[in-house]
Amino acid sequence: MTFTPHGKHLIAGAWIASEATFSSEPAHGPAYDFSLGTPELVAQACEAAEEAFWSYGYSTRAERAAFLNAIADEIEARAEAITEIGSQESGLPEARLKGERGRTTGQLRMFADHIQKGDYLDRRHDAALPDRAPAPRPELFTMQRPIGPVAVFGASNFPLAFSTAGGDTAAALAAGCPVVVKGHGAHPGTGEIIAEAIHAAVEKTGMPKGVFSLVQGGDRSVGQALVQHPLIKAVGFTGSLGGGRALFDLCAQRPEPIPFFGELGSVNPMFLLPEAVSARGEALGQGWAGSLAMGAGQFCTNPGIAVMLEGAEGEALVEAARAALSETGAQVMLTDGIAKAYASGAEKVAREPGVQELLSSVCDVREAKPFLFRISADDWLGNHALTEEVFGPLGLVVVAKDVDQMVEVARSFAGQLTATIHMGDGDAPLGRRLMPVLERKAGRVLVNGFPTGVEVCDTMVHGGPYPASTNFGATSVGTLSIRRFLRPVCYQNLPAALLPEDLAEIAQ
Ligand code: NAP
Repeated sequence: MTFTPHGKHLIAGAWIASEATFSSEPAHGPAYDFSLGTPELVAQACEAAEEAFWSYGYSTRAERAAFLNAIADEIEARAEAITEIGSQESGLPEARLKGERGRTTGQLRMFADHIQKGDYLDRRHDAALPDRAPAPRPELFTMQRPIGPVAVFGASNFPLAFSTAGGDTAAALAAGCPVVVKGHGAHPGTGEIIAEAIHAAVEKTGMPKGVFSLVQGGDRSVGQALVQHPLIKAVGFTGSLGGGRALFDLCAQRPEPIPFFGELGSVNPMFLLPEAVSARGEALGQGWAGSLAMGAGQFCTNPGIAVMLEGAEGEALVEAARAALSETGAQVMLTDGIAKAYASGAEKVAREPGVQELLSSVCDVREAKPFLFRISADDWLGNHALTEEVFGPLGLVVVAKDVDQMVEVARSFAGQLTATIHMGDGDAPLGRRLMPVLERKAGRVLVNGFPTGVEVCDTMVHGGPYPASTNFGATSVGTLSIRRFLRPVCYQNLPAALLPEDLAEIAQ
């Protein structure tokens, strides 16, 4: 089933074309024209979202669960066409797109189950104490309520699971918040077919039309207008530190500042402890290479930096990684811009003082080949430029003189999505020294694994201190991510006639 995009925006149930267009830039297959987004279209979508909130924000959990499940069904009904256009636009292999589609529908269904259980409402009750002296206590309830219309910026590297109907959209819709998506210019056709699926689910389940809109991008003014629109109450974003920070600043400067939940850059350091290096250095080197090169390194959890102690065993691990990476062929990147940023990022690393090039590559347009570099911890500790993410299959080995210096390197990192320890039983004392440092730096700490591959579940935290994210209290993956789009409301002394239905359940 081939999908030919019509190139329109979906604004509150209507497909709307604007005069100016931009062309998609697929990795392969035909390019199509898409209507260029405008601030006026953003305003229409936001106003419709606000209107929809008056009913959607007060819908029952069962109604929203039915809507989320219907979106998943509609995505599945378009499975082949989604894979085809997604792969053409992003250059990602079809198998990856299929897996990502499963993750996307799985997230929607997970949120449908999650809200039905009701725990996320965090309902609390303090019974009235009319006889308390010196003052009586009124009856108090508290419960999480949806915040209003939410803006979502689709991610370039996950055209399905972090985009139009991705984790941010699923969490916001589950919470009861209408969503306005700013489509990512790297995959406008994929955005359109997913919007079509959401539109069909809106019709099927009788949801208000303004509950979802997609405004295609093509112009920076679209995203800027969206985060500044007074009816938007929060933003979900995955992308670069520069872009995220610019939009975060706009949110903070609004007359009514709003939270900007940006999931930004991370180098995801790995600490290779001596017993693990000695026992399985070769396998670790090969495993690292596999994780680093997977999907052309275009994962926010890509482990870009490995920290180890100096010595022959560590060198053997590095050689195993180098050999495995040198066998990795060229891979297509998501966009020309991302490929250019990768090539210039690699050049910049190579020029830094003390950096030794172990594997270098020449990349063609929109292609990535792996790079591997090495630096002493002495040089690393004095150079903050090296802590910046290079998005792609680039690895840097930091060699410490001793365990104290390894801990010092750990302390030198800014906020991270993940931090990894590879260890044997005998490494536990050093592991225990690293833990308090890594726990302070990262949203997820893992042992003897690789951080690529983010489980979607109740316990996942995909976030972390800045610059990994702009809000360390939040995650953009897993059921906890719904909290971003909720706020607690306290209900004092309400008669049963006014108490929200979800609280009436616990009032008896
Ligand atoms: P991006 O350039 O930050 O763009 C993400 C979204 O934000 C796009 O819709 C973009 O619109 C919009 N945007 C960016 N800057 C803006 C601004 N100043 N004003 C208004 N809108 C703005 O990220 P990307 O295109 O996904 O990828 C580029 C880089 O992001 C990569 O090289 C990588 O470093 C990083 N990245 C990181 C992660 C992660 O999870 N950590 C994931 C993906 C990408 P336009 O497209 O119209 O500019």
